[in-house]
Amino acid sequence: MARVALVTGGSRGIGEAISKALKADGYTVAATYAGNDEKAAAFSDATGIKTYKWNVADYEASQAGIARVEEELGPIDIVVANAGITRDAPFHKMTPEQWKEVIDTNLTGVFNTIHPIWPGMRERGFGRIIVISSINGQKGQFAQVNYAATKAGDLGIIKSLAQEGAAKGITANAICPGYIATEMVMAVPEKVREKIISMIPAGRLGEPEEIARCVTFLASDDSSFINGSTISANGGQFFV
Ligand code: NDP
Repeated sequence: MARVALVTGGSRGIGEAISKALKADGYTVAATYAGNDEKAAAFSDATGIKTYKWNVADYEASQAGIARVEEELGPIDIVVANAGITRDAPFHKMTPEQWKEVIDTNLTGVFNTIHPIWPGMRERGFGRIIVISSINGQKGQFAQVNYAATKAGDLGIIKSLAQEGAAKGITANAICPGYIATEMVMAVPEKVREKIISMIPAGRLGEPEEIARCVTFLASDDSSFINGSTISANGGQFFV
């Protein structure tokens, strides 16, 4: 039977490419989203991938949503915690609301996504946890104290889960994309975007499919001894 993969924020941007790539590799995919019903419906019509709507920042909603996915598609073997937001502002202008919204979505949202799935993975002796972090969690970024904190926190999550899950056949890894051509980056003013591109040795933004291919590798049996690792996919912009 096909393995089941859950992709949060899987209906557009990087998540959309991930959902499609996992489906192409034979997984049964569930793609979640937050509120963009129109985009989710168009995505589902075009791909045949089932979509589910809940806010990853809400534990009870995540728990109920995951239970529904498992009821309809079967136990989740692969979880891609991809949903994320930015609320950028230089620190002296950053509001507590901007801080909290990003922490709740990008960090607590990762906990809320993995935690309800974890016991089943432990019982079945198999699981793949893949978290989409960011280059800015590795190096920090002007006006992204909130975002960088969450993305660095995501790396702490996978390094700890790797140690807890290894004996149970579960791996936990992260991908740190550099700048990828999605709505999140296209929303940045053009002048800033040009400056960003000028700092990327590859001379271009990444494509969502280039991140999706990292995910399909980490989801596959080929990655079985990779645990607690971070793949940097950033066109040569930053090394750790
Ligand atoms: P997009 O803004 O294009 O898409 C975000 C997706 O996440 C959407 O499906 C959205 O749902 C969903 N989402 C947002 N908030 C929530 C929430 N509270 N609950 C459930 N779903 C939610 O983002 P990207 O594709 O650009 O980014 C995907 C991930 O990659 C993020 O974690 C981001 O931080 C990370 N990343 C992106 C980079 C880039 O250059 N784009 C670089 C490095 C990392 P809906 O459609 O309903 O709004």
